[in-house]
Amino acid sequence: MELESSYLVDSHCHLNFKDFEDDFEEVIKRARDSNVGIMVSISTELDEIDQIINIAEKYKNIFCTVGVHPHSANIQKDLNESYLVEKASNPNVIGIGETGLDFFHENSLKEDQIDSFIKHINVSRETQLPLIIHTREADDKTCEILESEYRKGAFPGIIHCFTAGENLAKRVIDLGFYISLSGIVTFKNASELRETIKNIPLDRIIVETDSPYLSPEPLRGRRNEPSHVLHTAKFLANFYEKDEKDFFSLTTNNFFKIFKKANRPV
Ligand SMILES: [Zn+2]
Ligand SMILES: [Zn+2]
Repeated sequence: MELESSYLVDSHCHLNFKDFEDDFEEVIKRARDSNVGIMVSISTELDEIDQIINIAEKYKNIFCTVGVHPHSANIQKDLNESYLVEKASNPNVIGIGETGLDFFHENSLKEDQIDSFIKHINVSRETQLPLIIHTREADDKTCEILESEYRKGAFPGIIHCFTAGENLAKRVIDLGFYISLSGIVTFKNASELRETIKNIPLDRIIVETDSPYLSPEPLRGRRNEPSHVLHTAKFLANFYEKDEKDFFSLTTNNFFKIFKKANRPV
């Protein structure tokens, strides 16, 4: 099926996860049929990187990132910045991460998460590829690190699966960063989040699924997949009182502004 000009981008999914093993081709086809023109498969562990790059090399509408999730920061302490820089030179790698701080789950010690976060920032600064930031229950520390590191040298960034507070939103927007909204915005109990995102400038918003997790309404509870980003984008168009196609194009243009290394599909 031909893509419509107002196609969508799923800026954050995990296509290499076992959840997609049985029906990968159908997942990719459904994404295209739902007008999702590009997907970014996000790295969470060092030993996933080659597999993810292979997927991105095989499909021209899939890009990828390199990095280690904060959950794994303690077991991947030997993370080597130059290794990530080298992997990032692959033409299909368009971002660094996901990295950040998760003080909600705290699967890794805080010090290890901070150390890993700073290493990823160094790689983002060196490559100028956007940093994919995961932050939960860690707004202040996240802002403090981003701001102090930014002063040492600029780097581009995205707060993925945004659930943080207004203060963080304002501070990262001041740094020139983007905010990626997931299916969580559609959840009935997310009224506080919806209140916060009202004030985010529309020219900084991109959309994602974070699939296989966090399927949006009305599919909540099912396995998530890139085609479902359509539900989130429609919900947001309505929320911001925008024409759907205009809103879709806006988020896709925003995507290309922050992910400068990604090529537009032909
Ligand atoms: Zn995440
Ligand atoms: Zn993720």
